[in-house]
Formats: sequence, C-alpha cells, structure tokens
Amino acid sequence: VANGEAIEGMPINQLRRDPITGGWSIILQQQVDLSVLIAGRKARESDRPENHTACEYCSGHEAETSPEIYAIRRDGTSANSPGWEVRVLPYRSPVLQIYGDLNNRGMGMYDVLDGIGAHEVVVETPDHGVALPDLSLDRVADILFVYRERLLDLKGDARFRYIMVHKSYGEDSGPTALHAYGHIVATPITPLRVKEELINAKDYYQYKERCVFCDVVRQELGDQERVVLENEHFVAIAPFASRGPFETWILPKNHETFFEANTELKPLAEILREVLTRIRNVLNDPHYVLVVHSGPNLRAGQLRGYWKTLERDYHWHIEITPRLRGYTSFEVGSGFRINMVPPEQASRILRRNRPLLEA
Ligand SMILES: [Zn+2]
Ligand SMILES: [Zn+2]
Ligand SMILES: [Zn+2]
Repeated sequence: VANGEAIEGMPINQLRRDPITGGWSIILQQQVDLSVLIAGRKARESDRPENHTACEYCSGHEAETSPEIYAIRRDGTSANSPGWEVRVLPYRSPVLQIYGDLNNRGMGMYDVLDGIGAHEVVVETPDHGVALPDLSLDRVADILFVYRERLLDLKGDARFRYIMVHKSYGEDSGPTALHAYGHIVATPITPLRVKEELINAKDYYQYKERCVFCDVVRQELGDQERVVLENEHFVAIAPFASRGPFETWILPKNHETFFEANTELKPLAEILREVLTRIRNVLNDPHYVLVVHSGPNLRAGQLRGYWKTLERDYHWHIEITPRLRGYTSFEVGSGFRINMVPPEQASRILRRNRPLLEA
C-alpha cells in the first residue's frame, strides 16, 4: 500500500481529545477478541493461598497496627479493639511524613521540599477477603463517609495543597492483599495529573463560562451512548477519550467542586457498588485502580491567591481504571494512550452486564 492510501476494509482509528485533561487517546476501531483481553490477566498475588488467612487489618488484630486515627465502631467498644466497621490508620511505610516544615529550597537549578505530607490507610471492612461489592449499601456509605471525614480533617492543614483518595484492587502483595482498604495521601504540591485537570477546567470556564464537567455530563446524558449507569444524583460514563478499555468515571449530575461536600452518600454508594460489581462480573474480576479527584485544598490555595473560579470550574469525580494490559513503548514515550475498546462498546458491555468469558 502506497503512503497516504487508505487500507481497504480497515476502519480509520480516531484520535480523541479529553476536554478535561487535554490528553489525547487513540481509539482503535478494529474489533478485538475481548475474551483474550479479559482472560489474559495475570494471576494475582491475592490468588495465592497464603494470602487467604487473617492479616493485621483484620478484626482482632488491632494491636498489630499503629493506634487508629479514626473509626466507625459500635457503641460501647473502645479504640484499638474489635467492634469497628471502618478503621483509619497511619500507613506503615508512608511515602511522606506528617511532622515538620516544607523547608522549600533550591539546589542550584533544582527545587526541593522536605517530604512532608500524610499517608493514611482506610480499612474498609473488619473481614478478610471481603471486597467492596460484597458489602451492604449502608457499609459502603459508611466507607464514603469516612473518606469524607478524613478529607475535611486533613484540609485543615494549610501545608497540604492536595489530598487524594485512591485504592488499587488486586495488585498488592503480602498478607493484606486480600483485605479491602484504600489510601489517603496529602501532598504539599498538587499532583501533575490533577493540575492538568484544574488548568483545563479553568481555561474552559474562562472561554465558555461553564463547567467542563457539567457540559460533559449534559452531553453524555443527552447522547446516552457512553452512559453505563445513572441514578437521581450520579452518572457513570465511559469517557469519550477513555485511556484504556472499560475506564469508567462517576460524576455528580449537579455541579459540586468538592467530594467532601457531597451529602448524597447512599446514592453514591449505590452507583459505586454497582459499577464495581459489573466490572468484576463482566471482566473476570480484573485489577483496577480507583481515584477520587476532588478540588484542591482552598486553605492552602487562598494563601497563594490561586484558583479564583475553582468553585465554579472544577467538579469532583471518581475514576476507575481496570488494568487489563501493560503500556507500549509508544504510549510511555508519547503520552498518547491506545485503547482497543471504544468507550461506546465498553459502556454497552457494562450495561448488558453479562460475563465476557461466557459470551
Ligand atoms: Zn485481613
Ligand atoms: Zn460542574
Ligand atoms: Zn480526574
């Protein structure tokens, strides 16, 4: 085939721009064998039998951890003893430590800060081997409540410009691999990935005087092509420029900047649990990463006069990314993501909710 000539019978792939991050994805239009993609997941650490026993995050093992920072527990039970439903601890090997000053300085042309921050673990259930989709709606709402409380508390510290809630499922090793928990990491700088969203959202707002996320929600609810699920308050979508197969975002339908301002915990628990249940059922229980993107810490920002329109231009959301494959060298080197499952197909498959391996 000569250069510039279309290859006959080959659909043309699309370069799609994410209006929120400004990033580009290449969405392949050729059908791939999804059962190969799903079946190809590597055996997890958590599949190993030695991880099926109790760990330090289990009820009855409270003395093996650092003293708890926060817990939801039954009346009459005391801290650091059984009787809790959700328990927050300092992370055993934190990447950043809570005490001290940032000590901002230069080393020649290089910038350095001391590694100040906070790193907490939210143990989401006292029971080993129970995943979030197995929990009742009330329990999931409790977990969301605890994340909210910790965010509110950590945002009282003006040293922390950003606080991120995240969790990874199925990739950990060691005895806690099968115990459901998430992380809260507070950092003195805004993570680059979030900064890209903040800058794009601000630019979009300056240009259009509308929140880009609200526009995405409106367009997706109108198109219904990439909607996975919705309830009265929230919508789950496969984003237009999905970076990988079955990437799913959950957004509040009404404009809200901060996750920790959300009071609709029950409807959020409902849609989150259902999305994770479908990902588990349909995609053969894959690894996934979940991140909550909330607005940055205003207390830290106001000191610097940042983000004047933040409360109108930024809109919190949850991003769930199943890890079904590694990245190619082209993706790592270029920043483009190549996605072989168009989001229109991914959302259709998740709506249908039938296991792909049986299909
Ligand atoms: Zn455990
Ligand atoms: Zn909005
Ligand atoms: Zn985001």
